Amino acid sequence: FTKIPMKTPLVEMDGDEMTRIIWKMIKDILLTPYVDLKTEYYDLGLEHREATKDQVTIDSAEATKKYGVAVKCATITPNAARVKEYNLTEMWKSPNGTIRAILDGTVFRTPILLKGITPYIPTWTKPITIARHAYGDLYKNVEMRVPENAKAELVVTKADGTEERVTIHEFKTPGVIQGLHNIDKSIESFARSCFNYALSMKQDLWFAAKDTISKTYDHRFKDIFQEIYDAEYKEKFEKVGIEYFYTLIDDAIARVIRSEGGYIWACKNYDGDVMSDMIATAYGSLAMMTSVLVSPDGVYEYEAAHGTVQRHYYKYLKGETTSTNSVATLFAWTGALRKRGALDDLPELSAFADKLEKATLQTIEEDGIMTGDLAAMSTLPNAKKVDTEGFLLAIRDRLEQLL
Ligand code: NAD
Repeated sequence: FTKIPMKTPLVEMDGDEMTRIIWKMIKDILLTPYVDLKTEYYDLGLEHREATKDQVTIDSAEATKKYGVAVKCATITPNAARVKEYNLTEMWKSPNGTIRAILDGTVFRTPILLKGITPYIPTWTKPITIARHAYGDLYKNVEMRVPENAKAELVVTKADGTEERVTIHEFKTPGVIQGLHNIDKSIESFARSCFNYALSMKQDLWFAAKDTISKTYDHRFKDIFQEIYDAEYKEKFEKVGIEYFYTLIDDAIARVIRSEGGYIWACKNYDGDVMSDMIATAYGSLAMMTSVLVSPDGVYEYEAAHGTVQRHYYKYLKGETTSTNSVATLFAWTGALRKRGALDDLPELSAFADKLEKATLQTIEEDGIMTGDLAAMSTLPNAKKVDTEGFLLAIRDRLEQLL
């Protein structure tokens, strides 16, 4: 038996807490015995981010640009409590935010569907992938309270010093105002990431906004998507047999609810924020959501959508048994290996990724072996809860049968 070879290394971004424990278990139990795993390792664990003044996060993003595919473990985004807990010299920024900014990418989140766990919308028999625009709108807003008898205006001062202004509202009684913005370049990157991802997944792409009410702002999003589609993607979509279509956000919601899934839904920043939580809940669990960051020039970073599962980590540190769900983290690895296999023309590597995913689903759906979070939801008569490591060992048994 020879291990499956690799050519180009994966950029490996290690992380924090319980997911860091799972990370090592996945590699030891399910990857390195079978694959001659080549990675360029970056330790994004909070201690090492502190030691490098967060340079390691930047380096890992640059390496991702260079090699094209990364796999990332969940990481702590420091808050005041973490600054104390880890004795930090600074409240380092969210690694995901830093990486996303460097890669100029869009995040695509997809649920993993399981027999025995019925979505709250029973017609959703295929996954719905949410693509969320990650720049601007409400998330870069400025806002004010306005006193009575005041006039609020929108003023743009141009490079030549001339001004353009419109009245927002003449306030007779007190109220509030808000200023939002976005940038054509960012919307263009978002659109290209979505079109590229739809092509790579061979799935339809939907995009929705409120252009009937927002005749300039939302309309700009609609126009940019359409212009880029017509100029760069229409032919490619037709060749693959997939469709791009724009519709009003209200109509999109009605269609999504009635649909069977199996497409990519591109959302503006706020819509994506809200809808990705709805989708995760409706399909069952955050622990079963995968996530991939795709840059407009086709660089991929795979991860689980959930965090570091802090509560389980503290149990683990006390020596108590944990039953943490490793499926989304494992699927981040398989996604990255499959992509590497496709880019490097290593069908054996891609096939291994497929088999590992199949083994995972068989373990849950056929053997009824699963972690506590799934056992609590599953309607399978033979559902049996196992601990964190026991779950991965059961997957290995299935994998060995498939190899
Ligand atoms: P979390 O996703 O770790 O946990 C949220 C809830 O879901 C908890 O009740 C947890 O028990 C449950 N859960 C999540 N994943 C699970 C799994 N795999 N198995 C079983 N149960 C699971 O989010 P949180 O508690 O809000 O945050 C913990 C830490 O993770 C924070 O420091 C935060 O900054 C970080 N975080 C990182 C990322 C990322 O790196 N992508 C995303 C979110 C949060």
